[in-house]
Amino acid sequence: MRIDGDTRVVGIIGNPLGHTLSPAIHNAAFDYMGLNWCYVPFPVEEGRLPEAVQGIRALRLGGVNVTMPFKTDVLPLLDEVTAFAQSVGAVNTILMDKERLIGYNTDGRGFYTSLARDVGYEVKGRRVLILGAGGAARSVTVSLALAGVSSITIVNRSADRSRELTGIIERSAPEVSVSWLAPDDNYDLVVADSDVIINATPLTAFQGSVLRVPVAMLNRNQLVCDLNYSLYQPPLLQEAEARGAQVVDGKGMLLYQAAAAFEIWTGLEAPVEVMRMALLKALEEARI
Ligand code: NAP
Repeated sequence: MRIDGDTRVVGIIGNPLGHTLSPAIHNAAFDYMGLNWCYVPFPVEEGRLPEAVQGIRALRLGGVNVTMPFKTDVLPLLDEVTAFAQSVGAVNTILMDKERLIGYNTDGRGFYTSLARDVGYEVKGRRVLILGAGGAARSVTVSLALAGVSSITIVNRSADRSRELTGIIERSAPEVSVSWLAPDDNYDLVVADSDVIINATPLTAFQGSVLRVPVAMLNRNQLVCDLNYSLYQPPLLQEAEARGAQVVDGKGMLLYQAAAAFEIWTGLEAPVEVMRMALLKALEEARI
């Protein structure tokens, strides 16, 4: 990698950033495309987000990714936010276009693309059950709703966030049927009747948690997804695969949200397979 006076800098703001794989993914893409760009992590202390956002302008960065805990707080600091990011209430990519900061959310699109491209799954008309109602669940469900799923059922620890997500989906896609259940409701039959089941919580094993997955209800007609990513398959996907279900973890979502950010910043088609190799290598090196 060459760094000189013309190098265009992009990066990621968040905290902590110790485990981020994004620099490896993006720098591999810049290298492969022969672009004089570089991607660096910018850990930002809590309370200093407004200064960090001003810094994007002052330092003339090309843009940044935004991760925890700033995805929501960053919205009012931007000049423009896409309708999709506005509706999910979270931004994960900022483009500096001349002096204007424009906020995007590429997480949901990343998930949708990973289903379409990596496993050839058509979501139209499907019944979806999602565990979790946080930022990732919001972006994923709104994307799926806009892509034409028939129903979405939310199971989440806190009822407030379930209600909030229900309202977001209903406003984004009124034709989709949306409902939510509490963790202590009996949702075994809902699981059995769902086409797509998604874990959008950080839990990779559910024992001892308030949330449970009735794995005996999983079956060969289903697609079971876990947004967490690792070299190792999470227990939920092992159980699902053992019952004949198709499974997808979060690596594809991570890859395609990065590819979408690359395209927003550079205006060029992302070298997806180069980025995939870099992601897998970074996971191996980090032993995640
Ligand atoms: P978030 O906004 O903090 O939401 C976390 C969700 O998990 C909430 O619904 C929360 O429930 C639930 N939860 C957390 N701890 C729990 C526990 N102990 N028991 C029951 N429920 C619990 O986080 P997020 O951004 O949505 O991320 C969720 C997961 O998706 C993370 O593991 C993240 O790594 C992954 N993710 C992956 C990608 C990718 O590219 N593959 C992208 C984004 C996120 P409450 O509402 O009750 O708090």
